[in-house]
Amino acid sequence: MSGRHEKEKGVNVQVLLRCRPFSEEELRNNAPQVVKCNEYQREVAVSQNIAGKHFDRVFTFDKVFGPSAQQKDLYEQAVVPIVNEVLEGFNCTIFAYGQTGTGKTYTMEGECKRAKTGPNGELPAEAGVIPRAVQQIFDTLEGQNAEYSVKVTFLELYNEEITDLLAPEEISKVALEDKQKKQLPLMEDGKGGVLVRGLEEEIVTSASEIFTLLERGSAKRRTAETLLNKQSSRSHSLFSITIHIKEATPEGEELIKCGKLNLVDLAGSENISRSGARDGRAREAGEINKSLLTLGRVINALVEHLGHIPYRDSKLTRLLRDSLGGRTKTCIIATVSPAVHCLEETLSTLDYAHRAKNIKNKPEVNQKMMKSTLIKDLYGEIERLKGEVYAAREKNGVYIPKERYYQEESERKAMAEQIEQMGVLLETHQKQLQELQDKYVAQVRQCSDLSGKLEMTEKNLNETVKLLSNSEEELKKCRYELEEKEFIICEQKKAENALAHQACVLRSDLEKALKDNASLFLKIGREDKLNSDNRVVVNNFQVELAQQIGSLCNLVASSVSQQN
Ligand code: ADP
Ligand code: MG
Repeated sequence: MSGRHEKEKGVNVQVLLRCRPFSEEELRNNAPQVVKCNEYQREVAVSQNIAGKHFDRVFTFDKVFGPSAQQKDLYEQAVVPIVNEVLEGFNCTIFAYGQTGTGKTYTMEGECKRAKTGPNGELPAEAGVIPRAVQQIFDTLEGQNAEYSVKVTFLELYNEEITDLLAPEEISKVALEDKQKKQLPLMEDGKGGVLVRGLEEEIVTSASEIFTLLERGSAKRRTAETLLNKQSSRSHSLFSITIHIKEATPEGEELIKCGKLNLVDLAGSENISRSGARDGRAREAGEINKSLLTLGRVINALVEHLGHIPYRDSKLTRLLRDSLGGRTKTCIIATVSPAVHCLEETLSTLDYAHRAKNIKNKPEVNQKMMKSTLIKDLYGEIERLKGEVYAAREKNGVYIPKERYYQEESERKAMAEQIEQMGVLLETHQKQLQELQDKYVAQVRQCSDLSGKLEMTEKNLNETVKLLSNSEEELKKCRYELEEKEFIICEQKKAENALAHQACVLRSDLEKALKDNASLFLKIGREDKLNSDNRVVVNNFQVELAQQIGSLCNLVASSVSQQN
């Protein structure tokens, strides 16, 4: 699962930083320290003084090794997992990048002169990545009791010319001009890769042999150094270890697992910045740094996801194409010096390395080969070599005049160049085709999406139309009801008005009645008074009457008595 995930998304190039300790000379001169490493936080801080102000620029990497880190620490923390992957059948590449004198060669090879294995076969403390990797490979393979073979190649790339650092002695003894002729051509291998024709492949059978080989290679590099004015700072070296391991399938078939480790000691990075300004105008810098410049451009193109990656522009990038954005697992060890006089280069190295962190590779395990096929291939190779040996011995190969040979050679070169250009063209065309195809597929998908959406929309529309007609009917009904209600309201208003009028009339009547009432009350009052007056009169009358009656009675009585 995770493997597939990894394959699809790609894994980033791992970038480590190593800062070397002060050299004796720097210590003697009391050089100020401007680089500080924090191994736990994986950070490097560079102090700068700009216009009298102090700044710290901080960079983060996958791993950081400070001046006190030993060869063994770096190897165990950073390289052991990579070598294990090589043993599992991956191709892996480790680049050392940095200014001259910062420890690229020290990290990759170590101090070889003193590097002789100890009494128990253990490595000296100064041994670098190459001897330790070889040791680990042999230890692991012996431990597994596996049947295996280990082959190494060691080449140098200087001025776009490849020389074999392992080639037999007599070649390295010949004069420089001859040596230049001995440069090896790069050829397409027909499987999308390149190979260096005529490169010596040394079979290694034990870890201790590696020192002899390294010394042979380094010695050759050293001779050249004195002759070619510090060539090593401008040359790249590539040490490759190829491992074949025999495995048996459950069906008893024998398979060969193959893994390859490339260890690249690049030219000093100061060569880029120095010739960078000039490149493109005059070719003063010649081809010396073409490979380093192209490596930078390839990294830029990969980081910025440009369409065209200029792998084919230099031999280094052709050789290591697969390590940059390809199927190889890649690690870059950037080396810097802690001293202030290297500040500018240190910052440029840190920027470059930080940028490279963004490259993504898509590592793939090499396909296992059937042993029988491998043997068939080897027989073919043996036949071809036999033929060559025979031709050489009998001198009965093809002989042609020198002029014709040169003419044919130049024609061949022109054709190869043409083929290369056509290859580039083909590649861009293929890429365009692929892009167009991708676009077409995307369009078709979009189209089908759109038609699906259209269908849905039509269905929605139909439903909406139905809903709309229902709504319209309802609206009509509502309008009718509204009209009715409005009519009723109007009539009610009219009735209300009439009522109000009536109320007014009633009110005035009422007011009149009130007035009448009041006068009535007045009248009643007057009547009451009259009544009381009348009562008084009556009472007076009654009293008078009673008096008169009394006097009458008295009169009657006196008259009666008189009569009597
Ligand atoms: P480069 O290959 O980058 O030009 P070298 O590997 O030749 O640099 O290193 C320059 C000098 O610094 C050598 O003498 C080497 O021994 C020393 N040196 C570099 N890195 C370290 C380190 N980490 N510890 C001790 N010495 C170192
Ligand atoms: Mg070096």
